[in-house]
Amino acid sequence: MKIDDELKKEMAYFGYKKCTSKFFESNDFYRLKGYFIDLPHIDQNISNFKIYDKVTLIKYGKYFLNRHLGDANKEVRYLEFGSLNHRLRKKFGVYPSKENYEKIGKYVNKKSMYVNAYEVPLTIINAENRELGSCYQYIFDYAFNETGILKKLPVVETGVEINASDNHSMKSTYIHELYHMLLFRNKGYTSNLLYEEFIPYFVQKVSSIEISDGVLESDNIYRLNILSNFLNNYSLDDNYYDKVFDAEYIMAFVLSENLFIKYISGSDKIKKEIDSYIKNVVTGKKRIEDLLEKFNITPEEGSKILINKSKKLRREEFIQKN
Ligand SMILES: [Zn+2]
Repeated sequence: MKIDDELKKEMAYFGYKKCTSKFFESNDFYRLKGYFIDLPHIDQNISNFKIYDKVTLIKYGKYFLNRHLGDANKEVRYLEFGSLNHRLRKKFGVYPSKENYEKIGKYVNKKSMYVNAYEVPLTIINAENRELGSCYQYIFDYAFNETGILKKLPVVETGVEINASDNHSMKSTYIHELYHMLLFRNKGYTSNLLYEEFIPYFVQKVSSIEISDGVLESDNIYRLNILSNFLNNYSLDDNYYDKVFDAEYIMAFVLSENLFIKYISGSDKIKKEIDSYIKNVVTGKKRIEDLLEKFNITPEEGSKILINKSKKLRREEFIQKN
């Protein structure tokens, strides 16, 4: 399977038009990369990590969404894994014709259930070296899993997974996944695939400061280590897919850092303004690009904030060693 085809499919399904940014050619980016190479590795005290059960996570998810999104619609499309493929084949044939693409999209939309994001089935796993959290979208049969059709299909969720292993905050990870689902439901909520992780990372951070069990600190450490990995991995020689994957996370770090500084140092009024703007994005009234413009968020500015953090970390390490 060709990797670039996979990326094209992903973009068609979520409604993205591009997956590049000038930032990765800028001096700011190379400065950031320079500062994060050889970042002192920070150990986390993993015995402090709390394990939560499903009921507690769902309750927290519901609380957080109500607190930050108020009365906004929180429903996402949902289908049980594999439940629709047979019916699709029966109705549109094994190899559907182009004229039917639009109809297929409407049919899937009609046949999907609507549930609140925190009602999408949640599974808690305990697996080392796996993602901390994931949300899964419906997998369509081979012939239906084709760029032309994917463009017309609505995004449908099938489940959420939260990993309990080495997770500094299962609660914040769950919030991250909930926002992914809320954003995905408005296909084309951004034109740029590289912005996919931005809002989920930002709300994850907001959730971390609201939970008062030292999560923010471990979250910071976790993030700086991860960012350092992504920056070290990012290479122009990579195949296209890997490069985009690393770039997506680096972009999320720099943008969410920039927005978070404004949020955390801002008045209650500013916090409310940011919340309500994010509410407009998850309800499809605004797009990520509008939010970036409105609050003057840029990867360049975010990278400067992160460089200062890495400097501080190096100073602390220097003091410890001497
Ligand atoms: Zn994510």
